[in-house]
Amino acid sequence: MFFCNKRERGKQRKRDRSQTMEKNRIVLVPVPAQGHITPMMQLGKALYLKGFSITVVEGQCNRVSSPSQHFPGFQFVTMPESLPESEFERLGVFNFTLEINKTGETSFKDCIRQLLQEQGNDISCIIYDEFMYFCGAVATELKLPNVMLCTQSATNHAARCFFSKLNVEKFLVNMEDPDLQDKVVENLYPLRYKDLMPSGYGPIESLLEFRGEAIKKRTASAVIFNTARCLESFSMSWLQQELGIPVYPLGPLHITASAPGSSLAEDDMSCIEWLNKKKPRSVIYVSVGTISLMESKEVLEMAWGLCNSNQPFLWVIRPGSILGFSGIDSFPKEVSKMVSERGYIVKRAPQIEVLGHPAVGGFWSHCGWNSTLESIVEGVPMICRPFTSEQKINAMYLESVWNIGIQLEGEVLRGAVARAVKRLIVDEESVGMKERALSLREKLKVSVTGGGFSYSALDELVEHLKRE
Ligand code: UDP
Repeated sequence: MFFCNKRERGKQRKRDRSQTMEKNRIVLVPVPAQGHITPMMQLGKALYLKGFSITVVEGQCNRVSSPSQHFPGFQFVTMPESLPESEFERLGVFNFTLEINKTGETSFKDCIRQLLQEQGNDISCIIYDEFMYFCGAVATELKLPNVMLCTQSATNHAARCFFSKLNVEKFLVNMEDPDLQDKVVENLYPLRYKDLMPSGYGPIESLLEFRGEAIKKRTASAVIFNTARCLESFSMSWLQQELGIPVYPLGPLHITASAPGSSLAEDDMSCIEWLNKKKPRSVIYVSVGTISLMESKEVLEMAWGLCNSNQPFLWVIRPGSILGFSGIDSFPKEVSKMVSERGYIVKRAPQIEVLGHPAVGGFWSHCGWNSTLESIVEGVPMICRPFTSEQKINAMYLESVWNIGIQLEGEVLRGAVARAVKRLIVDEESVGMKERALSLREKLKVSVTGGGFSYSALDELVEHLKRE
């Protein structure tokens, strides 16, 4: 642009400055699944409290329930997707995300253009879930700053980065050698080569294609992690060096911003009354998250083992989560009788409240990252029964790094289940585990309060966003 005189240039500089100052809108783009939406909304709350305006771009499916009630001040816009809601049910979250990355670019671009037009040029940054990588491509095309949020552990992100540099064919051959399987990955102790092997996401080819695209389209100027330095210091240092852009460990996000829940389904609060009647630290809470599926044979062994442990249990059985299962009445009569006497079953529990209840002594979990963080923050040791490679890494950390978990490996058998519950809640071993869980909880609380690592990382992120 050409200005004829000094005064004009001064005026323009003033206009530019005021325009820059007005750019305080953050656009958030979560993956449409509970475990991803929750930390994204918590991040939104943290940034809102720091003075940013927040716009959440949602899909047509899996919208946050009652957004205006839980997140007053947030703007929610719906991206007209090329994929209808029925496709989400048909494909499942992984394949749906894969598809949306292939097809969502145009409608996301339209959506952002419309926002820019209607609200003035006020977008300071697009923060997208690392698995919605098409957002990075759109942001670059529209010349908008963008930052990535990783909702899984930092160690998982590091494992993916490391794996992406390997020759996959050679890696698969090497993995036939047991010594190489157990070899520790350089500078990422205690991660072993076998932990890098993706599993539980369907065909490896599509997963690798997905990961490859995510890396190729990445233009983010920083990465946010829902973790704390005290939990994953090696992995955070490794990532800081490897990624070459600022990394901000802000977590656990649910206590960084003390954000409300962003439930996609209704919690059954009756379980709190049930817990109120139980002895302190006597109950095992059982939940495998919002996506994992189980076989009915395994669930029957679990039911036997839980009953045989003689500890009361609160069990979340999500509708449709057990293949070929039509309710506890489909168990043999003696089992369904025992389950209803010793346990309490709900379709969905208010998990954070449950974990914080004095009656809860342990958590049987699939080790999703949110569940892992929530359990640590409440100082509750865990029985780890992971399904995917991501959850397996979390389980390995729970058992071998933080020493607050017991892994159940191999086939689930009633004897092993009962023993694990006793070790976690009754035996002498449980005392040390509880102490370590409580000590970790204290470290996390320190981390999110004034002067702590996560607290300071949030301030640094705010500065980064203001500079963008
Ligand atoms: N959750 C809940 N109640 C339930 C089951 C799950 O509130 O009955 C919440 C849980 O607190 C966590 C999230 O759903 O925040 C699950 O995320 P996670 O990463 O643990 O597992 P995913 O569902 O993504 O496999």
